[in-house]
Amino acid sequence: MAKTFKIAVFEGDGIGPEITAPTVDILMKLAADCSAYAFNFTPAEAGAALYAKTGEALPEKSMEIARRSDAILLSAMGLPSVRYADGTEISPQIDIRMALDLYAGVRPVRILPGQRTPLKLEGGQSVDFVLIRESTEGLFYTKGRGEVEQDEARETLRITRHTSEKLFRFAFNLAQQRKAAGLGPGKVTCVDKANVFRAFAFFREIFDGEAKSYPEIVADHAYVDATALWMVEKPWIFDVMVTENMFGDILSDLGAGLMGGLGMAPSADIGDENAVFQPCHGTAPDIAGQGIANPFAMILSAAMMLDWLGIKHDVPEMVRDAGALHAAVDKVVAEGRVTTRDLGGTATTQEASAAVLCLMQGAG
Ligand code: NAD
Repeated sequence: MAKTFKIAVFEGDGIGPEITAPTVDILMKLAADCSAYAFNFTPAEAGAALYAKTGEALPEKSMEIARRSDAILLSAMGLPSVRYADGTEISPQIDIRMALDLYAGVRPVRILPGQRTPLKLEGGQSVDFVLIRESTEGLFYTKGRGEVEQDEARETLRITRHTSEKLFRFAFNLAQQRKAAGLGPGKVTCVDKANVFRAFAFFREIFDGEAKSYPEIVADHAYVDATALWMVEKPWIFDVMVTENMFGDILSDLGAGLMGGLGMAPSADIGDENAVFQPCHGTAPDIAGQGIANPFAMILSAAMMLDWLGIKHDVPEMVRDAGALHAAVDKVVAEGRVTTRDLGGTATTQEASAAVLCLMQGAG
């Protein structure tokens, strides 16, 4: 008897609908070929276009769909042309993270041999680390509530012991799993600015406290500025890195750049109960509507969702299919035959997604 999972689908703005449709299509076909699991997809409205039309960015009805789902699949939201009166953009994807307490933003950075990258890797050398971005507090704490006076503006960075402890435990547990799977040496690097800010000295102290419960994992520290340098100079030194919200926001785009672009960077925002799976990139308004967006980051995010659901609900077939989906994207990228413009190819979104599906169905 198949387990049925309720998936809330936010197709979002810009290229969102173009990359969501083929991703949902792949998930439906995988479930159709497997008797162990099934999906019930429910579309949920939110985003800048919705705000422009109705004055509401994230309706309560959509939040309710998200809350009741087993997982949330989200493309990207926001349009630079649509703003609140205070000049900021509509960003319900951040509000969802905060409302559902999705504190652990998981951003894998993987560069396989042959993959397009600005790095000069020695023959056969690969890069594989995971950046964990705290996603509910930090410098995003006063999002929408910053104080602006005539000649001065202030935002507040907030670090709490409660969230930091959960965040660090998540990072250490991930390092343990990666070590057990032979994916990493078992190391967590706390990325901060503890040399200058008391809030980051506090963050680091909590990290060191949690590290004591994981004696087999190396607990390392790095300042965020040096981390940016080392991600470019010697990214292979990292296994799991964990950092504050804003630092993670910036470093994860750097990680995406190392992987050949935002179109290759998946992510998951995970809490104790809920989780959102979405590409790291935005709505790419410059290419929206042309059918040329790279769907791989969204498809890889869907693979992360399959894996998370499979582990959480003990459905090994989902974990297996997550691995196969990941491998199919890797193969299409490595072969370089059917890639979109951002990866140097000419394929459309539809053609790139079809190439992945074709491999999954054994016809590639
Ligand atoms: P962006 O990620 O949308 O685009 C940056 C560059 O990367 C653009 O040149 C774009 O064409 C390219 N790109 C991004 N995704 C791509 C893909 N899948 N395939 C091919 N090329 C791709 O960032 P931006 O331009 O700074 O922001 C655009 C909008 O997206 C803004 O409104 C911003 O607020 C929003 N945004 C949303 C999220 C989110 O929902 N998580 C994240 C970042 C930005």
